[in-house]
Parts: sequence; structure tokens; C-alpha cells
Amino acid sequence: MAGNMQRVVHLDLKGAPPKIDFLEKVLLVIKSCGGTGVLIEWEDTFPYTGELADIGSHGNSGGDGVYKPEEVQHIFNFIKANGLLPIQLIQTFSHLEFVLKHPKFAKLRELHESPACLCPCKPDSLPLVTAMVEQALNAQPDAEYVHIGADEIWHLGVCPDCQTRIAGDVDGTAVLYLDHIQAVANYIRSIRPNITILMWDDMLRGIKTDILLRYDLGSKVQPVIWDYSPKEVFHIGASRWNVYSQLFPRVWAASAFKGASGANQILASTYRYVSSNEAWLSEIKHNASSTVFAGIILTGWSRYDHYATLCELLPVAMPSLVSCLSLLTKPEDVPIETIMYETLPPSSWPGMQFATTLHKFAVLKEHANQFLNGEVVGSWFNPWQIENSYTNPYKVVRIASAARQFMTELAALQSDLALGISTITGQRSSEEWMKTYVCPIMTRISDLVKAAEARSNSEPSVSPSNNLYLWNNNVQ
Ligand SMILES: [Zn+2]
Repeated sequence: MAGNMQRVVHLDLKGAPPKIDFLEKVLLVIKSCGGTGVLIEWEDTFPYTGELADIGSHGNSGGDGVYKPEEVQHIFNFIKANGLLPIQLIQTFSHLEFVLKHPKFAKLRELHESPACLCPCKPDSLPLVTAMVEQALNAQPDAEYVHIGADEIWHLGVCPDCQTRIAGDVDGTAVLYLDHIQAVANYIRSIRPNITILMWDDMLRGIKTDILLRYDLGSKVQPVIWDYSPKEVFHIGASRWNVYSQLFPRVWAASAFKGASGANQILASTYRYVSSNEAWLSEIKHNASSTVFAGIILTGWSRYDHYATLCELLPVAMPSLVSCLSLLTKPEDVPIETIMYETLPPSSWPGMQFATTLHKFAVLKEHANQFLNGEVVGSWFNPWQIENSYTNPYKVVRIASAARQFMTELAALQSDLALGISTITGQRSSEEWMKTYVCPIMTRISDLVKAAEARSNSEPSVSPSNNLYLWNNNVQ
């Protein structure tokens, strides 16, 4: 059953976009583990031109300097040469921060203070997103599929224009949404009559069935029903399946192999993500008699949104990816334990060395945080004690020694981490990751070392140094 479905791996390029040679190795692993396609979410890494030049790699507001037009062609060619199906994802309604943050497009925001969502009512809105789709499809003349995003529209029907248009209509926001989706789909059909259009399903979940039927969405798009939950909490109600089976001849599922367990996670748990795919396998099996599943997309989020920090990087998620693909391709009688990989052989683990260093760092960082926030520092060298120089050197010497040990170990990993990340992605993502995850913990430990060393040779304090009388006056 699952063996006949497409198994498409999502490459979320809005964070830590891979260098070409690293990407090639990842694609080879995807192919060798039973992947059949790749969903490419370029975001700001596509070389848009003309009026759109600022939003993509030519403008380089992303800062990683990728991808050039010839690199895009190389990526498509490499994917196809390895028997994989390339599908582009171009956001057409929301998650458009990379477009709407630019002043020239600010007037098309639904809510001025958030560049996430497009106002569907402005005359320039549809031409903007159709121009993006057109440029992306021009780069892929033989595209069989395109994904138009259209998920998580946090701000819908709130601007004065939209409010006027939906005034008095209780289903107004649904109509606003579906009119825009229909217009985008009709446009794509007009330039590529045979292309299959995919979209995320979450915005459809709250729309009444009769409205969805009126739009005849099933003849225009195939929904990608996403749920990244582990099996313990995975739940898609029977009513959604009932509605979708009436509306859509074919649907897609979307699970996750990384980027769905916390916006600032640095390690990808194989168990967590295999669980998401197990839940989907069971759900697909359960609904196979009424619903045709065209495929499953294994999403691999790099950021929760354009402004969120980087979450799990590809190298640490490779064991999860390989395990998830193996789950989807294994015969039913093969025990699941045999396809759960925490590590991989070097030949099937691009970025292995960096991933191994990153694991060591994650453990060390956890220990350092426990030390910084733990009982010893909190009880004998806390901010009040430091401020008042009220310390016992016997304790402080030991705290300084432990802190120096963390500093030494962190410093030993720092250069390997910096080198490792720079081999897989560009300058902006490398710097961002180091300054987000490595530098802050080093600064905290270093500050503690300095403070403790400054008090290590002092005699046991007699009384707190600050004037308590003043403090009492201030707070009363
Ligand atoms: Zn609007």
C-alpha cells in the first residue's frame, strides 16, 4: 500500500541552505533509501529576476549567497538524473515574509506590522504571486507538480479592504481564502494545463463542506494533509476524512523528519520522527478504502518561519531521515527496531563529522547550563553574592575550576563547529548558528570564570559590601 505512494523529502531552504556538494550527497541518500521525490522550498534562495530581484538570491537579503540560476538548473538536473521527482514549493498567500518585508511590497501586507500574509484584495497581490510562480516554473519547463503553500494564514480578512469585501458575510474569510486559491490555481492552469497543484490543507479544515464543494477544489488542487505529531498524540478526526473523500480524488500526507519538535532544537530525535511516520502509515492504512493517497511528504523544517531561528540542521537529522524513509519502504514483517538509526555509516551520512561534534556540543551545553543554573552556583556564587563580594573562597575556587573546565571543553569544540557548519552552508547561516547556539553559553561560562577568579584569592567575607541601609530605603 505505502509502497505505491510517492515518498517526497522536503528541503526547506529558508534556513541553512545547503552548499551544492553537500546537497548532492543528501539527494543520493534520499534516493538510496527509497525516496521518490524532493519538495524544494526555495523561499529567498531562488534567483528571481526583474521586479522580483530583491526577494531572491540576486538581492541576497538571505545572506548565504545561494542559489545562482545555473545552480538551480544543476539541482533540477541532479535530482532528475538520480531518478527523483522535483517539486517546487512557492508560497502564494502566507509565509511571504521574504517578499513582504521589502518596503516596495509592504503595501500588499494584510497587517502592516506583520509581513507574513498577503492581502488578497489588493490589485497588485495576485500579479505578484503569479509572477513568482511563473519565474519558478520557467526554470522547470518539465514540471509535473507545483506546490502553492497557502498554509497558516494568521491574518486573513483584517485589513480595511478585506473587511469591506466580507462585510456581513459570516463565511467571508473562507470566501476570501478560496477566491485567492482559485485565482492562483486558474493562473497556473492557464500557463501549464497539465500540471498538478498541491497545497497544504490546514486552512481548509475550518471551512464548511458546502462552501468547499461549491469551489470544486478537487478538480483544481490536491491537498497535502499535514500532521507532524508523534503517534501518542496523533489524531485526525473521521469527519475530516469524510469531507476530504467527498472533495478530493487524491490527497497527500505530510509527516516530518526534522524541524517539528521545537523552534530552537538542535538535535533531531530519530524516535520522535519515526513515530510521526508510523502514525501516518497507520492512518493511511485505516483510510485506504475511502481515500486515495498519492504520496507522503517528509517535511524537514529549517526554521518555524522566516524570522525564527535555525532548528535542527540537516547533518544531525540524517539518521532520522534514513530511518523514516526505511520505515516507509520496509516490508510489514520487518521489526521497526531494525530501521531505527541513531548513527549511520560514513558513506550514507553527509556531514557526519559535523553532526558528531554537534552531538558532543549539545551534551556539553546541557551540562554547562545545569551547572550555571544549578545548586552550587545558585547557593554560593549567585548574583547577590557576587554583587556584595560575600563569598567563601573554598567554594569559589571550586566553582572557578569547574567553570574553567567547561570553558576549555567548549573552546575545543568551537572551532570544529565553525568549520563544520561552514562546509555545509553559507556565511549568514553559519554565523547565525554559532552566535545563537555556541557564543551565548561560552559568554556565560566565561563571565562566571572571570567573576570567580576575581574572588578566588579573597579572604572569607565579613559582611556584604553594599550599603544595606540604602537598599532598604530604596525598596520601602
Ligand atoms: Zn486585505
